[in-house]
Amino acid sequence: MAEQQTPQTETGPRPILPIFKLQPTPHLVGSKCSCGAIFLDTKRIACSKCGATGPFQQVDLSTKGKVWVFSVIHQSFPGIKTPYVTAVVDLPEGVSVKSNLIDVDPEDLQKNPQKAFGMPVELVATQVATDRQGNPVMAFQFKPSKG
Ligand SMILES: [Zn+2]
Repeated sequence: MAEQQTPQTETGPRPILPIFKLQPTPHLVGSKCSCGAIFLDTKRIACSKCGATGPFQQVDLSTKGKVWVFSVIHQSFPGIKTPYVTAVVDLPEGVSVKSNLIDVDPEDLQKNPQKAFGMPVELVATQVATDRQGNPVMAFQFKPSKG
């Protein structure tokens, strides 16, 4: 996937991916086809449901979803604290997104996986790095949803 070259003249937090928007509140965006299919990207070439080549409309996606599957990660890159939980979250628009689950106990979910399947979760923005200009780089994760 080619990187989008957006001139960055302002300072402030930067989203880590083009599908992640921080304003007005952190959320993901997708491309919607005229047939109704929605895809988790911003540069769709063709619809895999109907074959149309566009135009695709950018739509805001729900910040709440449900865990479809998850995995507890015990080994990762140097400097990445383990264990942590990665998951595929289904959004109500029919889009699945892979991300990490925070505010959960990895050991508990490993012993009691039924707690995680279908768990309501909500998107949160977390700072994962600082760019060369000193701006926070923001990623998205999911945490258990309160109601
Ligand atoms: Zn379509």
